[in-house]
Parts: sequence; C-alpha cells; structure tokens
Amino acid sequence: MFADKKAVENCLAAWLRFSRSMLNFVYPQPCVYCGEKTGNKDLFLCSHCWQGLVLIDYPYCIHCGYPAEVSYDFPHESFVCGTCQKKPFSFDRARAVGTYDSVLKALIHHLKYRKCMGVMVPLKILIENHFQDIVVIYKEFKVVPVPLHPTRLKERGFDQAYIVAREVARFLNIVLEEGVLIRIKKTSTQTEMNQKERLDNVKNAFEVMMPEKVSGQNVLLVDDVFTTGATLNEATRVLKKAGALTIHVFTLARA
Ligand SMILES: [Zn+2]
Ligand SMILES: [Zn+2]
Repeated sequence: MFADKKAVENCLAAWLRFSRSMLNFVYPQPCVYCGEKTGNKDLFLCSHCWQGLVLIDYPYCIHCGYPAEVSYDFPHESFVCGTCQKKPFSFDRARAVGTYDSVLKALIHHLKYRKCMGVMVPLKILIENHFQDIVVIYKEFKVVPVPLHPTRLKERGFDQAYIVAREVARFLNIVLEEGVLIRIKKTSTQTEMNQKERLDNVKNAFEVMMPEKVSGQNVLLVDDVFTTGATLNEATRVLKKAGALTIHVFTLARA
C-alpha cells in the first residue's frame, strides 16, 4: 500500500516537473528585477541582476551588522556603528544577507506581496551561502520567526518571515519554534515612522506563549527585513524576559 502511494507521489512529482518545464518553455520566466529573460528558468533573476546583488560583507558593525564605510586600513574586527555606540540593541548580534535595495528588494517584494514562492529558489541559495561557514555556531540554537499579527496574516494569507525561518532551520538542521512568539498588538505600518514612533508602535507587541520552549535556549530570530531594529529589539526583550539566553538576528535584508 505504502509502495503504491510512493509510486503515485513520484509520478505526480515527475508530471509537475514536466508541466513546469513546458510552461517555462512557452512562457519563459522573466527576471523579477529587470524583466529580461533569465538564462536559468528557476532562478527568477537574469545573470546580470544576480551579479548585481549587493551583499553585506566586511567591514560591518560587529554588533548589529550595519555595513561600514570602507577605508583601506579600516579596523574590520572591532567596528561598532554609531547607533550601537549610543544605545546598543538588546539582541546579541544581527546579520543580514544584503542591503534592502534594487535586486534583493525586488525578490523580497515578490515573496511578500505577490506570494511568489518561486523566488525562494534564489533566496535559498543566498541563505545557504550566508550560513554555510557558520553552521556550527547554530548547533545549540532554535529558530524563532518574527510573527505577523493574526489579522494581518489573514489579510495577507502569507507569512514571509515564517517561510524564511523555515528555510534557515532546514539548512542549519535545527528546531523551528512555531507559535512560541506571537504578536498580540496589531501595529501600524512603520514605513513613514521615525525611530521614536516605531519604538512606541511595537511596544508590548509580542508575547511568548510557551516560555519553557525558549527558557535557557539560544534563539536565532528571523525576519525578512531589518529596518531600524525596533521590532527585533522588542521581540528580543520578551524572549529574554521568558528566559532566552543568546539572541542572534538573521534577516534577508538590511535597510
Ligand atoms: Zn535582470
Ligand atoms: Zn551597530
């Protein structure tokens, strides 16, 4: 019975692959950024735009990951940005794959607003490249996504932070804690807000449902974009209050 089920599944998967390749042949997938034809039909980016992705590399703030202005003799290992010097974030460190503009922004927008799961193909590659040399650091961590408010989830029907977090947990082969951190306050869109307004907006926005799942644990907190860090800071505050130890933040992009 089981073998039959497996055979049907394999057959279905082969048929889906075939249909998809035929569809790509008839309607080639254009690059999500420039609209040109893509050489690799599954990549959703043309080779020019793939090369044009602005990834964050040294030097960056050792604490929050903010990219530094480069000078030739820059002290890479000890740079702390102005924001962290004035008022450090509550999380222990934050890192992002790239800056939130042009190509990466287009990929994230396709995922977030168009629910285009196909862009997870290039995003998966970026996530794997980001973590491949530091997998060992996260052996003793749990992944926690920054959640949407249930009403917003219903409106959008899609939680991009969860999709990214699931991919991160899969690659690192660690536990994804779903439903532990919940959003209890429906916050306003923060795009037009300054830092003070953002802090007020996210204050008491989160709650930890099952503290025992994060108490005494290290957490890799995952979101799609790090803008001012206000949301991530507030999520960190409640996780630490619930007993979480180290909190590392991972986002696809850094605004
Ligand atoms: Zn392109
Ligand atoms: Zn910093």
